[in-house]
Amino acid sequence: MNEALAALIDDIGDVTFSVEPSLLRRRSRDYFWYSQALAEDLRGKQADVIVTPRSEAEVVRVAAACARRRVPLTPRGGGTGNYGQCVPLQGGVVLDMSEMTAVEWVRPGVMRTQPGARLHLVDEMLRVGGQEQRLHPSTKRSATVGGFVAGGSGGVGSVTWGGLREPGNVLAARVVTCEETPRVIELRGDAAQKVNRAYGTTGVVTALEMPLAPLWDWIDIAVVFDSFAAACEAGLSVALADGVVKKLLTPISWPIPSYFGPFASACPEGHSLLIAMIAKPSLETFKTLIGSRGEIVHEKPFDESPAETPIYEYSWNHTTLQVLKIDRNVSYQQCLFPHDRLLDSVAEMVQLFGDEVWHHLEFIRFGGRVTASALPVVRFTSRERLFEIVEIYEKHGVFVANPHVFTLEDGSRHKRADADQRGFKAEVDPLGLLNPGKMRTYQPTRV
Ligand SMILES: Cc1cc2nc3c(=O)[nH]c(=O)nc-3n(C[C@H](O)[C@H](O)[C@H](O)COP(=O)(O)OP(=O)(O)OC[C@H]3O[C@@H](n4cnc5c(N)ncnc54)[C@H](O)[C@@H]3O)c2cc1C
Repeated sequence: MNEALAALIDDIGDVTFSVEPSLLRRRSRDYFWYSQALAEDLRGKQADVIVTPRSEAEVVRVAAACARRRVPLTPRGGGTGNYGQCVPLQGGVVLDMSEMTAVEWVRPGVMRTQPGARLHLVDEMLRVGGQEQRLHPSTKRSATVGGFVAGGSGGVGSVTWGGLREPGNVLAARVVTCEETPRVIELRGDAAQKVNRAYGTTGVVTALEMPLAPLWDWIDIAVVFDSFAAACEAGLSVALADGVVKKLLTPISWPIPSYFGPFASACPEGHSLLIAMIAKPSLETFKTLIGSRGEIVHEKPFDESPAETPIYEYSWNHTTLQVLKIDRNVSYQQCLFPHDRLLDSVAEMVQLFGDEVWHHLEFIRFGGRVTASALPVVRFTSRERLFEIVEIYEKHGVFVANPHVFTLEDGSRHKRADADQRGFKAEVDPLGLLNPGKMRTYQPTRV
């Protein structure tokens, strides 16, 4: 162990830490390996110590020690990110926030929670009072609230509420700065955007205020269509029906459904699926909108209990995961289609890539407009081709948040919140120790 690290461990006193090699390895990873390019670029990057604070006071102690000893500090939630967000590029401390799980309070429409609270446990607790989180990633059963805000973008619920970047979807954040004498700053309203999808580069989040939605009895539903175009058209008609209460609307093209394990038999060969979560009182209208265009093959009350697979675990980036379980020779892509020529643009991409790219959409609201994001599954041939595909999408007017890079500037694009995150970083991380290397354009203001 080097001198700075030994001094740091001395400084943090009785805060829990570990230098056990297998833990160092495990806590230094996320799901970056979905990208063959990132698997190559991030290989072997590892923390020197894992520190697990139990309170904000302990976070302050660790941040002070890191600043004093000039040791990098990388926060981590559930470690389910896809772009190596919590991989410590320069080693140092990985700050495992998973023990800070308290929900501080719940009121009608809003809660305040510590960052390490698991999203599914939060919803379980909220259910008793008739509320739920507005949105969550498809990794709800393993991700944390803090990791979602600092590293995610949206997901189940975004068809109604938009993504995390939409004003009002993160109400306040409390952060600890990385300085010799750390400050604790409360960011309210617009100011909270400074930590939104900043990969932990702009302070360690110790509390979040998040808006809530009324709880509905959700129904998981799957409809089979003759073609992907028909699934997309039907999905769009539901997405545009403001009176239909919905949480998920995902058209999925063949052959993706054939990788859906026990659920695969729901979709005959060559057909496409529309999977959805619809509030029970809206089910009749949903069926009317679908009409004779498709056949309902699955309809079941939503169930997240451990033995069940909720339908959202076939959506968002779980779609890629379902394929990867069987075939490791695929990767993926992340894009946002233009709202004003949505179906034409989708058809154009389907035609352009043939069998190389397998399509599925996520209907969402973006800036108040209904459109679709997508995480198409890409058959992997080479690193160069992955980047070429990104360029082709962009040339055709489709936004891409490149999932094969680890920096905020290059990877986040349309997912970033509207805030001066780099300016704020200069205030809270003058030494450039917070998750160094992830905000490429930041130059430390002190050494
Ligand atoms: C199968 C699969 C499906 C996915 N689906 C979705 C999806 O639907 N939507 C979506 O948005 N994402 C999705 N993701 C990505 C990821 O699961 C989510 O973004 C998730 O919310 C990340 O939460 P986490 O707790 O695992 O965070 P981590 O991966 O641990 O961390 C994410 C980032 O947040 C930072 N961070 C964590 N805690 C703090 C803190 N307290 N203070 C400051 N910074 C912090 C970390 O440094 C890191 O940069 C998916 C990933 C996989 C593998």
